[in-house]
Amino acid sequence: MKFDKLRILGFKTFVEPTEFLIAPGLTGVVGPNGCGKSNLVEALRWVMGENSYKNMRASGMDDVIFAGSGHRPSRNTAEVTLFLDNRERRAPAGFNDTDALEVTRRIEREAGSVYRINGRDVRARDVQLLFADASTGPRSPAMVRQGQIGELIAAKPTQRRAILEEASGISGLHSRRHEAEIR
Ligand code: ATP
Ligand code: MG
Repeated sequence: MKFDKLRILGFKTFVEPTEFLIAPGLTGVVGPNGCGKSNLVEALRWVMGENSYKNMRASGMDDVIFAGSGHRPSRNTAEVTLFLDNRERRAPAGFNDTDALEVTRRIEREAGSVYRINGRDVRARDVQLLFADASTGPRSPAMVRQGQIGELIAAKPTQRRAILEEASGISGLHSRRHEAEIR
């Protein structure tokens, strides 16, 4: 599924509303150390349903909310919206009747996250399944964190198998089977 745009508000260093248009082809993000390049990729990972705050380099999920700086007060909410092109109708049933999808995750201090797809409240699971089907998702091998190559070399065989399953496109099936079993 093609990503069209990412809108970030109050997430880590992105205190002002910030929109990134994602053009076809390759996009490079350059900037000095600490300017927020990794935070940008984390915003993408977070809106796709990442639930490990450690993967956000945080000591609690509230740490993704702008914590204030010398001259700006901290915020109490953070919100990230990912705009998707769904003209090829690759979204799962229930979300597949529109050409465009808007996936939003919002967090409020001490109140946790809520998710919306096209303005409708949904479960975290719905968002995770949307991206599991698209073979993207917060744990996708397409998202390579700083330091991850080193971790991959040191990984156990079972951890490497999960990467191969994601690459072969069967991890969405695993998620749906698990969903069916717990119902
Ligand atoms: P490098 O080139 O070193 O990899 P980078 O551009 O990837 O740098 P990031 O890691 O994205 O930089 O940004 C780090 C900055 O984000 C740090 O200055 C850190 O203080 C700031 N930061 C992280 N979380 C928050 C938060 N909740 N509120 C405000 N600033 C934050
Ligand atoms: Mg970085």
